[in-house]
Amino acid sequence: MRRSLALFAVLALMIHAPMSSAQVPADAAHPAAGGPSAPSGPAHTRPDSLHLPPEPGSFPRTWISGTDCAQDPAIQVHAYNDDFLILRQSMCLNYEAPFMYLIFGEERAILFDTGANGNPPVASTVYREIDKWKLRNGVSDYQLVVAHTHGHGDHVANDDQFQGKPDTVVVSANLNAVKSAFDLPNWPDGASEFDLGGRTLDILPIPGHQSAHIMVYDARTQLMLSGDSFYPGFLFISNFNQYRESIAKLVAFAADHPVTWILGDHIEMTSTPGVAYPYGTSVQPDERALPLTLAMLHELDAALQAMRGNPHSEVHDDFIITP
Ligand SMILES: [Zn+2]
Ligand SMILES: [Zn+2]
Repeated sequence: MRRSLALFAVLALMIHAPMSSAQVPADAAHPAAGGPSAPSGPAHTRPDSLHLPPEPGSFPRTWISGTDCAQDPAIQVHAYNDDFLILRQSMCLNYEAPFMYLIFGEERAILFDTGANGNPPVASTVYREIDKWKLRNGVSDYQLVVAHTHGHGDHVANDDQFQGKPDTVVVSANLNAVKSAFDLPNWPDGASEFDLGGRTLDILPIPGHQSAHIMVYDARTQLMLSGDSFYPGFLFISNFNQYRESIAKLVAFAADHPVTWILGDHIEMTSTPGVAYPYGTSVQPDERALPLTLAMLHELDAALQAMRGNPHSEVHDDFIITP
């Protein structure tokens, strides 16, 4: 859909606004609980995260996974911490059961993805969480940016719930809109930063699964959002060479940005290594955990490099390459 020039001007201001000094997390010896053991990241080199441990957070013991459709909420909301929420759409509404991410800065929040069909109450859930955050932080003037990891239907289906809402900017998931909104004119080259006020996200083009796919990195939690490019499930690839280059870019990015966990948009693996639920399954009582590690990203990168010229399906413990 077409965005107005005024909207882009607002977004451009956000992108080019000066970065605030990084916030020092209070206590962050261990980044997360409830997932696999903590990876040891490379040394910090980014000025605003130099020597700062990641803001701590946690994952739920289980996500809603289609096992109790009478009781499960349409959307599960989990606070990784007070300023970083993970939402999951119920598998009872749509087998894709995508994850969505709501990240709070001092001046605005950004939502990555609006979920799949099935009419989940994404907007009312998100605005309720924003109202709670504003109350907790004594903030009255606040904005919401709605954007996407990529443009597939199971991540953009509920954009219309946000259209025309106050203090809300919806960035269309088409490539031109993504390039403009995130200031990435040389796509797929280059990278950019998106300012939420006191919190800057790194944005990296990573086409291959889909042509307008981005990676989002949050220096405060050191979480990397990998969308459908890397998650515990079937890694579907539309352009193999682009995808291989994009995964290599993620590895290079992680070489000088410490990463606690890599969070994707779906879970399709079971808790048994190398075993996935058949694609399209809508009851998954024994899912693998959501977070992936940097070591697993390296494993994917090595496998893709070895497949040059000969892309083929390959089952790994935590993901299945599916060209
Ligand atoms: Zn996708
Ligand atoms: Zn998807």
